[in-house]
Amino acid sequence: MITLRGVTKRFTGPDGPLTAVDDVDLHVPRGSVQGIIGFSGAGKSTLIRLINLLERPDSGAVEVDGTDLTTVDDAELRRRRGKIGMIFQHFNLLANLTAAQNVELALRIAGVDKAARPARVAEALAVVDLSDKADAYPAKLSGGQKQRVAIARALANEPSVLLCDEPTSAVDPRTTVAVLSYLKEINQRLGITIVLVTHEMNVVRAIADDVAVMAGGKVVEHLRLDGSPLQPETEIARFMLDDRIRLQP
Ligand code: ATP
Ligand code: MG
Repeated sequence: MITLRGVTKRFTGPDGPLTAVDDVDLHVPRGSVQGIIGFSGAGKSTLIRLINLLERPDSGAVEVDGTDLTTVDDAELRRRRGKIGMIFQHFNLLANLTAAQNVELALRIAGVDKAARPARVAEALAVVDLSDKADAYPAKLSGGQKQRVAIARALANEPSVLLCDEPTSAVDPRTTVAVLSYLKEINQRLGITIVLVTHEMNVVRAIADDVAVMAGGKVVEHLRLDGSPLQPETEIARFMLDDRIRLQP
C-alpha cells in the first residue's frame, strides 16, 4: 500500500526553479496496479522515484506499507527500500554479469546470506520463465528477456511494491504484451502492488486498476478501469484514450 499526501518536488532547471511534482495525493491499495500516464515532462518519473525516496520530496508524506519514509533514519530507509523493487526502461543490467549473477548481486546488496542466494536466484528466474538463461550474459538476450531478468532481479528480494518506469518502451509490441503479462501475473500470484509509468494508454489499460493522468506535475484525473465505460474529463485524458492516435515512445 502506498499513500502520497501533498507531495511536492522542485528542481532548479535551466530557466530557474521548476515544480516537477506539485502537491500530489495518491493512494494505491495493497495488491493493486496503479498506472501513471502523461506527456513527456509531466513528472511521472519524478513521482515514481519519490515513492522509494530516490528523490526526496520538498514537502509531503510518502507512506509505504504504513510508514512515512520521509521520517525514518538511513538504516531503516535502506531496509524499507529492500522491499520496493524497481525496473526501468533500459533494464540497467550489468553487462559483465550473467542473468543469474545480476539477480544475485541484488540479493548481496540487500544483505541476503550467501548460502541462501542460489535458491532465491533460481526461484526469481523461474517466475519469469528464464531458468534456461541463467548463465547467459545480457548481450546474448533479447530486449524482452533482459526486461524479464530485470523483473527477476526486482522480485528476488520479495518486494511488497514494484515500481516500473516505462518498462516496455524499449521493446517491440509483442514483447510489450509478454512483459505486461508477467507483471500482471506477479501482481495476481504474489499480491505485489505495482506502479507502472507509461506513455501508452493501450499498455496500461490492459493491466491497471486505476490510471492517474499527470500534467504539469499534478494528477489531473483518475481513470478507473473497472469495466465501466471510461468518461475522461480532461483534454489530456481524452487525447491519451484516442485510439486513432498512436503515440511514439
Ligand atoms: P518522460 O515521459 O519524458 O520520461 P516524465 O513525465 O517522466 O517525462 P520527469 O522526468 O519526472 O518527467 O520530469 C519532470 C520535470 O522535472 C521535467 O521538466 C524535467 O526536466 C524536470 N527534472 C526531472 N529531473 C530533474 C533533475 N534531476 N534536475 C532538474 N530537473 C529535473
Ligand atoms: Mg520519465
